[in-house]
Amino acid sequence: MRNAHIKERFGTKSTVGLIKREKVSGSPSKYTEKAVAEVKDMLKEGVDYLGGMKRFVKPGNTVVLKVNSVYATPPESGWNVDPRLVEALVGLIKDEVPNVGKIIVADDSAAVKQLPDIDTVDVMVTNGIAQAARKAGAEVICLEYDAHVRTTIPDARTFPYFECPKTLLDADVIITVPKWKNHIEGHMTLGIKNAQGYYTRVLRQDGMTDHRNDKERRHSNDLHLKFTDTLKVIYPALTIIDGLWAIQGDGPGVARDWEVIRDMNMIVVSDDIVAADSVCAQASGYAWDWVPTTRLAWRQGFGHAKPEEIEIKGADLKKVMVRFVPPKLYEIQGYYDNVDVYTHGGCSTGCQPLLRMTLNFPDEAGTLKKLKEPINFVVGNNTYIPHDLKPERTCLLGECLWYNWLGLEEEGSLTPQNLKDRGAFIVPGCPSFANIFTNIPPWIDKIAAKDQAEAQAAGA
Ligand code: SF4
Repeated sequence: MRNAHIKERFGTKSTVGLIKREKVSGSPSKYTEKAVAEVKDMLKEGVDYLGGMKRFVKPGNTVVLKVNSVYATPPESGWNVDPRLVEALVGLIKDEVPNVGKIIVADDSAAVKQLPDIDTVDVMVTNGIAQAARKAGAEVICLEYDAHVRTTIPDARTFPYFECPKTLLDADVIITVPKWKNHIEGHMTLGIKNAQGYYTRVLRQDGMTDHRNDKERRHSNDLHLKFTDTLKVIYPALTIIDGLWAIQGDGPGVARDWEVIRDMNMIVVSDDIVAADSVCAQASGYAWDWVPTTRLAWRQGFGHAKPEEIEIKGADLKKVMVRFVPPKLYEIQGYYDNVDVYTHGGCSTGCQPLLRMTLNFPDEAGTLKKLKEPINFVVGNNTYIPHDLKPERTCLLGECLWYNWLGLEEEGSLTPQNLKDRGAFIVPGCPSFANIFTNIPPWIDKIAAKDQAEAQAAGA
């Protein structure tokens, strides 16, 4: 399969612009026209290495900038695309192609339906993207409100169709604009994984996974194949990766200040999304094939990725490399104070890393240390459940736990039903971001408060 179309599309080598500046003025939340001009200059340099913006955008075109606007956090969090880059990119397109049609800045944020009453515009206002886009003259669209068209993926390997926003199908040009971030499930989240914002989320009332919930469908061990399947429908004309600020450690949403790399001042630009992702990984100190989506997309012939297949223009990769602290991925057992995890078939890109990312917050806040004895999480199918787990301190996480439960009772294991009947905390979904992120921290807070109240009563 490799090399089926790659030479036709990119020749024997792909070009990637790696743009680095020692200084960029301002910060994601406080900046002036000077900063926008500086970032525009970086973007122009990158796009010019590929033949200039006119090669990609024609007069009258509708251009969609699919930005990474993941959560409603302030611009300084570094979780979302930098408003300076959004404003500069819209401005650059208008400068270079003055009679361009419409420029749309769009996403379907991860936060939508994770938190009640929040939509992508709420997210984009909080993280500053909406103001930057509108100031530069672009339209802002919440893709979750779009008409969705069931779109078949040819030769699918895991994701035979998805509900594709009509705005994307109707666009003349799609430019994907991810944030340069580590990711606890995908190793890094770059160009290929930015497709997560094409998918929308439909939740069932009982919290279980709806088959139309494209955001969470195939978001387990099959996650990477889902993204390479999607490349068969949408292959962005340009990939522009925002590394003005970046995130190392357990991204994409971080609990610890050291995980935000401020003023990294780098941007990667390419028409080969795989090559762009490969260069980002290498510039973060990782091997070209460390990110599973890059490796898989390279293997399937969606682009070049090996160093010898890429011509990097601009900065010298070795000189500008920043060695990121890698994510801990699904390592979870024995990682936290007062947390015991029992798992057999828990997914390395599903419930386990999501639980890890969630637990980083009470860990950082010191709540886990306040527990008088461990809390327990049971995850994954065929998991042995020790008979002495206290139901009131046990969380049954995920859906597969309830299926394929192969007679472990005979070996002395409790059943999930037994714990449920005695009051264990249930978190459904396969996986359910909303249930994990929003339900587990308050459950832990409640147990910690009860433990402290009991300790105070005993001491009184
Ligand atoms: S419910 Fe089970 S199969 Fe689904 S993501 Fe969680 S661990 Fe994986």
